[in-house]
Amino acid sequence: MSKLALLGGTPIAANTPQVDADLFHWPIVNDAMRKAQLDVLNDGNMSGTNISIEFEKQFAAWQGTRHALTHNTGTNALWAAMYGIGLGPGDEMICPSVTYWASCTAALTLGAAVVFCDIDPENLQLDPASVEARITPQTKAIMVVHYLAHPADMDAIMAIAKRHGLKVIEDVSHAQGGTYKGRRLGNFGDVAAMSLMSGKSFAVGEGGMLVTDDEEIYRRAIRFGHYDRIGSCYKPEEYADTLQLPVGGQKFRMHQVSAAIGIEQLKKQDAERAEIDAALKYFWKRLGHDLPGIRWIYPTWENSDKSGWYASAFHYDPEAFDGISNVTFVKAVNAELGGDFFSAGCNFPLHRSSLFYETDIFGHGRPTASLYLPEGTDLRALTGSLPVSEGINAKVIHEPWFKHMEPKRIDKYADAVLKVVENHKDLLDLHDAGSQGHIAHTKRK
Ligand SMILES: *Cc1c(COP(=O)(O)O)cnc(C)c1O
Repeated sequence: MSKLALLGGTPIAANTPQVDADLFHWPIVNDAMRKAQLDVLNDGNMSGTNISIEFEKQFAAWQGTRHALTHNTGTNALWAAMYGIGLGPGDEMICPSVTYWASCTAALTLGAAVVFCDIDPENLQLDPASVEARITPQTKAIMVVHYLAHPADMDAIMAIAKRHGLKVIEDVSHAQGGTYKGRRLGNFGDVAAMSLMSGKSFAVGEGGMLVTDDEEIYRRAIRFGHYDRIGSCYKPEEYADTLQLPVGGQKFRMHQVSAAIGIEQLKKQDAERAEIDAALKYFWKRLGHDLPGIRWIYPTWENSDKSGWYASAFHYDPEAFDGISNVTFVKAVNAELGGDFFSAGCNFPLHRSSLFYETDIFGHGRPTASLYLPEGTDLRALTGSLPVSEGINAKVIHEPWFKHMEPKRIDKYADAVLKVVENHKDLLDLHDAGSQGHIAHTKRK
């Protein structure tokens, strides 16, 4: 038995945030990126589209879709995807409750409502049975989130969508380049959108991408928020009456510095993800897969991966640790390392926010969410009880996001966990409440 650092013992490692800064630094910047962004500055064309269109071409080839459309944020790419499929007044969109708010919130601005479904307790992805149980005559679409880098069960979801004639949008913000049963995430639904902001595993600065094979969705996305490109895919007689104005009243153009960085990022994306994958798999090999109360979350389907391991989490069972909460456990592990490398909980369940039931956003004098739904529709009742989403925050912990495969340096993070596992009973007096979840699950730059 050795004394835990949190209780005054000797830590496993000292000065880790300084010593290992480069192990976590993100994004990884190379000289080609530095040059590319300076070239844009020097060119005097930061608000142009030539570089962004080149980025789209290369991204579409990498993604394997006909179209890729750059956006200034992932939030807006998702909004454009919702408009693209025709989500509108009186429609319901089913979305998992445990995700980042941008997966669904923009639906309200289109006159649509969000009905939340539960997540699977094992893989944390939207639960197909819970989706199907929430389908009504108003249901138009399913928002699939490949949450915390893990793929959602696309076979089950696409079968449901087909059976009920629903559109499918994929939010790939956590899993760019990831694979489900041998096929790239983002290529299953009608359209996919993703964040490329600097914390995500495909980082270009602020930015987002919409990808689709569907010509009409692509055209609608352009017409919503890309005023200067409407002429490129609509005939003059199609927009003559609107004088080529963007119907969404939005301007979603990507900054060309982001696009230039994106072109360079694309060249090293697969190699970076492979190294992160090797590093995280090494961490788990070192930790072992037979620890009571601690289990990794990893796809069980063949030819499926966790891609860039963005915000990856593992199962933590407080019962196996005499009731010690994930918050206390994480405090003890981090104390061994001298920095906040592990974190407790994931996103708080969105279905608890009154925004999706009561808020009068636009001053209609009625809740925005149910403005266009049949009289008497009770959105809270449609969502109903979501027991897994309600409880998951006390049962998961994020592991550190290693960017480099350096076994000797990764060892100490596994050792810190193992030390706390072994000595957890010493924490019993510190016992406090588990995580309630966060608005953004990471505070990464
Ligand atoms: C980050 C994120 C978004 C929003 O993307 P931004 O680029 O930050 O606007 C959407 N969905 C999920 C799941 C995200 O994590």
